[in-house]
Parts: sequence; structure tokens; C-alpha cells
Amino acid sequence: MKPKILIVEDEPAITDTIQYALETDGFDTVTLSSGMSVIPLISENPVDLIVLDIGLPDINGLELCKEIRKAHTIPIIFLTARADEIDRVVGLEIGADDYLTKPFSPRELSARVKAVLRRTQQTTPSTLSVPAFTVNESKRRISYFDKILDLSHYEYKILKTFIRRPGHVYSRDQLMDLVWDEPETSMDRTVDAHIKNIRAKLKTVKPDMDPIVTHRGMGYSLKEDL
Ligand code: CA
Repeated sequence: MKPKILIVEDEPAITDTIQYALETDGFDTVTLSSGMSVIPLISENPVDLIVLDIGLPDINGLELCKEIRKAHTIPIIFLTARADEIDRVVGLEIGADDYLTKPFSPRELSARVKAVLRRTQQTTPSTLSVPAFTVNESKRRISYFDKILDLSHYEYKILKTFIRRPGHVYSRDQLMDLVWDEPETSMDRTVDAHIKNIRAKLKTVKPDMDPIVTHRGMGYSLKEDL
């Protein structure tokens, strides 16, 4: 299946150029000329990457990115015409994966899209393939053997991280970095406490199973054959 790229750009000439370049390189594209319909669209029809213009007519692309990040991990490449915006993209860590300054060559954009997809798909495959679990990212819900789990914010994020890479051992530090909004304010034990809660919640569904493996001195992983 072709990766699907959402282009959010209000200048039709730029949209056309990008669309042509990406489709020539084997991508499917969807386009929007304003920002407010992005979240409804990606919640209904998942895309693999968003090319997001910062100067949109209805909402600033940086603000929109923050909103998108509350519920989605889709990679985002920013387009900007202004140097001061780049400072914000780079400095504020708002979750951009790359950016391009206008004017840019469409081939350069296409190369960046490929690079970002290659990089992000290694750690975040777009399909989550653990049969025991179903993740609904737009509703921020995880089901376990078809039962919806009642998870806290961090429990959800930890479990989703495991489900993305079954068998992969995550250290407590890695989980902190991946999951916590402000890792420096929490301590190691918090990870253990959350894992304990997740285990308890999973046990209420399947008392005889413990899908989370503890690796002494190393961290935690999800069992591979679930
Ligand atoms: Ca614009």
C-alpha cells in the first residue's frame, strides 16, 4: 500500500507542486487548504505523514501541531516562509519531525518525506499487530481481548509503546523519555508503579496471563506471541 501524505497548505500553486512531486514518487496524497479540518480528517482517515504550512489562514501551524500531538503521533514536516518561525519549530520541541523553508524544491521535500517515514516507521509501524490488543488512537483507548481498559494518561502511553514493538525491552529511562511530558520531574519508581497498575488492570481481564515481562536490571517488554 502507498503511504498517504496529507498536505495542508493554503497556496494552491505550492500544493499542486508538492502533490505532483509526491505522487510521482509513489505516494498517495490528500490536500487541505486550511487547518481546522485537519484533526477531524486524520481521526477518521489515518495518514502516514503531514506536510504542514505554518502560515495558514485559520490557525497557526505550530498551534495546530500541538493540538495534533495531543492524540496522534503522525510525523509532521513543517513548511515555513519565515526565519523566526524556524526558531520556534526547532527551539520549542513541539514535535516536528523536520521542516523546509520556502522556496524549496519539490524533490527536496519528497526526499525529506521519505527520510522521515524511514526513520519513524522503524519505531512506530502504522499498524499495531498484537492480536490481544487493539489500539484506537483517536479515542485514546486500548482494548485487551476485546475489553476496553480503563487506563490513565501515562498507563495508556506506556502500554501503547509496548504494543508498537512487542519483544523490545524498554529501560525505565527510555519509557520516561518516550512517555512522560516532563521526564525530569518524575522518578524511576513512577514507571514501576504504572507498570504495576497496568498489570493489575490486564489481570482483571485475563487473570492467568501476564503479558508484560520484567527484565531484571534492564526494563520491561511486551510478550511477542500474544
Ligand atoms: Ca501559507
